[in-house]
Amino acid sequence: MLEIRDLHATVADKPILKGLNLTVNPGEVHAIMGPNGSGKSTLANVLAGRDNYEITGGEALFEGKSLADMEPEERAQAGLFLAFQYPVEIPGVSNMEFLKAALESVRGAQGKEEWDSVTLLRQARAACKQVNLDASFLKRGVNEGFSGGEKKRNEIMQMLLMEPKLALLDETDSGLDIDALQVVAKGVNSLRSPERGIVLVTHYQRLLDYIVPDFVHVLSNGQIIKSGGKELALELEQKGYGWLTGEEESA
Ligand code: ADP
Ligand code: MG
Ligand code: MG
Repeated sequence: MLEIRDLHATVADKPILKGLNLTVNPGEVHAIMGPNGSGKSTLANVLAGRDNYEITGGEALFEGKSLADMEPEERAQAGLFLAFQYPVEIPGVSNMEFLKAALESVRGAQGKEEWDSVTLLRQARAACKQVNLDASFLKRGVNEGFSGGEKKRNEIMQMLLMEPKLALLDETDSGLDIDALQVVAKGVNSLRSPERGIVLVTHYQRLLDYIVPDFVHVLSNGQIIKSGGKELALELEQKGYGWLTGEEESA
């Protein structure tokens, strides 16, 4: 489903990813961990096609198609959900208007039945309920004035509605309290299915108590330097990253 081979990428012309390999098959949940600054968010941003992030070598294929040749919207239409596809804040555009446009685009491209406004509202309210977000958030500007936890709930709510083939979530360093962690966990777990791949970039061993991954990878200095099963996350919690990177503990 996702095949990343020898990927090299720069951020603002600075080399960050330096030969990264990763294969994700349908039904698998992968966790990517690693010290601060190792390139985890860069990987997420590169896959999302964010400005300023450039692939300089290797390839990233989604169902055999090179992501480098696809606009961010085409990536979403192909069934990728990358949190970073979705703008952080769009004042003046309500959450509901935004969801309507995104769902029309993605469902249309995938030949799924179009939702009329009643169905859309029902689905959106149900998704809000799943993440404990009040339905009044649907009327507010996208992420406008949302707290960190509310943004995270909103993101998971979007993901539930989009029903992606592959979801990639970057749990950034700050702002996730235990409630938000559990919302992420519940949302991700409800999307687990034999047809769907999930990649979770996380600093939190604790999150992996709730979402048990099939594979854990350690990213260090732009490469995946170790892969294992769920037990690797426990080992990292005990030992840190130093034994793998040959450096002082940095996480
Ligand atoms: P992680 O998510 O693993 O903590 P990042 O991918 O955020 O790491 O960052 C990897 C490296 O890329 C860091 O050294 C960071 O300073 C650098 N970097 C990230 N964004 C930019 C940017 N916009 N301009 C220059 N360097 C950046
Ligand atoms: Mg970081
Ligand atoms: Mg990061």
